[in-house]
Amino acid sequence: MTEFRNFIAGSWSEGASQSPNINPSDTRDVIGTAARASRAEAEAAVEAAHAAAPLWAASTPQQRFDVLDRIGTEILERREELGRLLSREEGKILAEGSGEVMRAGQIFKFFAGEALRQTGDVLASVRPGVTVDVRREPVGVVALITPWNFPIAIPAWKIAPALAYGNTVVLKPAELVPGSAHALAEIISRSGLPAGAFNLVGGKGSDIGPVLTSHPKVKAVSFTGSVPTGRGIARACAENLKKVQLEMGGKNPMVVLDDADLDIAVAASLNGAFFSTGQRCTASSRLIVTEGIHDRFVARMTEALKKLVVGDALDPATQIGPVVDERQLAQDLDYVDIARGEGGKVAFGGERLNREKPGFYMAPALITETTPGMRINREEVFGPVASVIRVKDYDEALAVANDCEFGLSSGICTTSLKYASDFKAKAQAGMVMVNLPTAGVDYHVPFGGTKGSSFGPREQGRYAAEFYTTVKTAYTQP
Ligand code: ADP
Repeated sequence: MTEFRNFIAGSWSEGASQSPNINPSDTRDVIGTAARASRAEAEAAVEAAHAAAPLWAASTPQQRFDVLDRIGTEILERREELGRLLSREEGKILAEGSGEVMRAGQIFKFFAGEALRQTGDVLASVRPGVTVDVRREPVGVVALITPWNFPIAIPAWKIAPALAYGNTVVLKPAELVPGSAHALAEIISRSGLPAGAFNLVGGKGSDIGPVLTSHPKVKAVSFTGSVPTGRGIARACAENLKKVQLEMGGKNPMVVLDDADLDIAVAASLNGAFFSTGQRCTASSRLIVTEGIHDRFVARMTEALKKLVVGDALDPATQIGPVVDERQLAQDLDYVDIARGEGGKVAFGGERLNREKPGFYMAPALITETTPGMRINREEVFGPVASVIRVKDYDEALAVANDCEFGLSSGICTTSLKYASDFKAKAQAGMVMVNLPTAGVDYHVPFGGTKGSSFGPREQGRYAAEFYTTVKTAYTQP
């Protein structure tokens, strides 16, 4: 049986207890056992990161480049193998699994380059003869808490900038996906980093999470996950004056206007709402459609949904894998019932499916005749469930799109430059997509949202430096 262990101060350990890692496509398939760290081990990981911090902070840009570049190279070389492991434990299809691994490799490569490109400012002082320089320094020990839906890309987009800017790391991945985190840690363990600069602790967030968010030696916490957990982490960090960065939920609108290219609108909505089993914080869960195109759009979506192959994530013919676990599946089915109860019409899907192998399969659900106030249009489902809201015109579409407590990604399908430009300016979201799915982003530009979706500085691209560095202003009189 494969063991997914903890990595603390340069050594591997089995943890205080273990939990099984189950394949959601076939629950008889136990992929391995995952180490659950005790609180003492989580503390030891923080101490190790703290001890390694001065050494790694003093590393040269070349050393940082070499470490990150090596990690990126190995990830890219092993993308099929690691993608398969990822798909086996998370349930996204093979193409998405290896695509995500490739993304993780590209992120390490990008931040390898960023390590060489760190700059500061030199200014003349307002006082004669004095110069001022502004430089970026590492924050220190950062705790990275990650969810199950992107088991390697999200750890990568936090670890790579953390290390590139000279910080040391304690990673706490989600319990459902220990294999990908372990594989990543194993690659990092051979990259030339000093012992203790990177640590991995597995286990229950409610148990060891608070150790990380309250430990005085942790200087910053970057979290991706649910809204209630994120808010709890923000409170803990405020108490201890830590920097905090939160990426949480979404209820992302996809506006389809009468003048849209229907092929593009259907392809973007199908991808955005249902690919990766809808388990993306950027998923298009509200399809806001103007009345002139509404019926044609719904008919085409229903037709396309009928053809989607739902099944074993490891079968190359599959287009939609299983839901990640029983609890999430129950939540998805519940929301279909809630929507029905509120007056929505289930135009397609929404039921549990039986396949040859026992797994958490669900028919992707399209719910029509919904209105903006319904719970299905206000709460994040995090599954293959999308609702359609019929609106009169662009102005109403924009108002409905923005009538939401989240603000991660907003999409519009239109051939009108006027509406596209207006939407880019007025959409209340951190990311706006024109004739593209709300999900699916580049790795070299900022990622993040507004309103209840995100808190703190942006992730990814050069903007990641805001979170992973602190600024020092130095005055010199020669
Ligand atoms: P999800 O429902 O997507 O699993 P969660 O917010 O529950 O989202 O989990 C995201 C990450 O946060 C996971 O790694 C989880 O273990 C961790 N976590 C859960 N509770 C806490 C907590 N109280 N403190 C810190 N981390 C936590």
